[in-house]
Amino acid sequence: MLVLGIESSCDETGVALYDDDRGLLAHALHSQIAMHREYGGVVPELASRDHIRRLIPLLRETLEKAGVALPEVDAVAVTAGPGLAGALLVGASFGHALAVALGKPIIEVHHLEGHLLSPLLEADSPHFPFVALLVSGGHTQLMRVDGIGQYALLGETVDDAAGEAFDKTAKLLGLPYPGGPEISRLAEQGDAGAFSFPRPLKHSGDLNFSFAGLKTSVLTTVKKLGEPTEKQRADIAAATVDAITDVLTHKAVAAIKQTKMKTLVVSGGVGANRQLRARLDDAARRHRFRVHYPRLDLCTDNGAMIAFAASRRWAADRSLAKPAGVIEVHPRWALA
Ligand code: ATP
Ligand code: MG
Ligand code: FE
Repeated sequence: MLVLGIESSCDETGVALYDDDRGLLAHALHSQIAMHREYGGVVPELASRDHIRRLIPLLRETLEKAGVALPEVDAVAVTAGPGLAGALLVGASFGHALAVALGKPIIEVHHLEGHLLSPLLEADSPHFPFVALLVSGGHTQLMRVDGIGQYALLGETVDDAAGEAFDKTAKLLGLPYPGGPEISRLAEQGDAGAFSFPRPLKHSGDLNFSFAGLKTSVLTTVKKLGEPTEKQRADIAAATVDAITDVLTHKAVAAIKQTKMKTLVVSGGVGANRQLRARLDDAARRHRFRVHYPRLDLCTDNGAMIAFAASRRWAADRSLAKPAGVIEVHPRWALA
């Protein structure tokens, strides 16, 4: 069965074709990062309008790359939430319209399930059950995953998401949006021991996270220094990355121990972070578990993960696909 996936929950427009026999046939992506950069973050109205502009060209590109004609598609999958309401509506309306025109059913996908399952797109795919560490711009969660659709929340952030913490602290250092990759790069030239930032909830005994205090500490440090030198900025970046990755790794290991599992699966934009991957790989060696990541370009939002999640769920439950036409999106929507 061939599924066309459409992602438009935030600032990436993604389209992909996934076939359950042949795998990922093609995907095309447009990131709006450059457009939102001058505002220091995502502007919802601009995001919606840009999704409208990009969807048809991206659909054409995907079909062409895959060598597929539109009528061959068996179902259209759209991200139904969570995300920006207007942005979600653009992708959902586009998907429903296509499905109606083609006489094919629609599959609504949870964006976080897309992220969560994205490491399964790799050749060396993890086996169930596993612990999932989902670290994105809007979410930081540890989940117990027993199979497709079987997700139990083990812990989550009580305030900011890890990606948000990266973005906010990067902004304080004068780095452009999105700050995650920028702060990671700057950190490579810094000394993490030069500053010490708090690790809230690290020893809380549960699997929750808290990152809101970090930006306050960074702000206080930057203010105290007045005009930090290049070296000091790099040191602050290194200490920030150190604090975030330390807590994420500590809790991921705790979740592995608590559930007695042997596999950790990481996903979401922060999963692209080099320092986090190095730290998790090291912990995996020491505590004897395996860790799986999506390939780098599928860590952040994309259509491939949406087509894939839809395909896997549809294979397990044929009633999942429904007649197109009634467009519904859920800007706030819990996965578990
Ligand atoms: P959600 O999926 O929770 O709705 P989102 O879709 O905005 O949020 P993603 O696209 O998964 O989130 O990831 C974007 C986030 O990942 C941003 O906060 C960005 O700074 C962060 N990020 C991307 N690359 C890196 C990196 N190399 N290091 C750290 N953070 C990164
Ligand atoms: Mg994004
Ligand atoms: Fe996302």
